Amino acid sequence: MSDCIFCKIVKKEIPADIVFENEAMLAFKDIRPQAPVHLLLIPKQHVQSLEHVTEQDGVLLQQMLLTLPNLAKDNGLQEGFRTVLNTGPGGGQEVDHIHFHLIGDVRHISNN
Ligand code: 5GP
Ligand code: ZN
Repeated sequence: MSDCIFCKIVKKEIPADIVFENEAMLAFKDIRPQAPVHLLLIPKQHVQSLEHVTEQDGVLLQQMLLTLPNLAKDNGLQEGFRTVLNTGPGGGQEVDHIHFHLIGDVRHISNN
């Protein structure tokens, strides 16, 4: 997707504070962090949202889920973390490239 901002981050066409990368996925700091640690984990391939995932994406999703706890630990979240996956406009999804938010420590956010 040529006009997708997260695809541009994957292609290094726009800068991002990347904290993890392998052949299938990328994690970088959210530009508007809601907590001391706020990362976004995305697949390198463009998938619009959870509603657009197919069975062929199953292994990729599994890899992403298994990566989240390691990312959390590597970024200093020793006592757990919050994972958020917004889907579609009704779910508050602003960027149409599927991404997990990894947020912590939510005890440092008011109203949590
Ligand atoms: P959504 O609402 O789609 O679940 O979340 C999109 C997230 O992407 C938001 O938290 C927003 O701050 C973040 N974001 C949007 N544009 C950029 C960008 O260009 N760079 C980075 N690092 N984060 C972005
Ligand atoms: Zn994309």
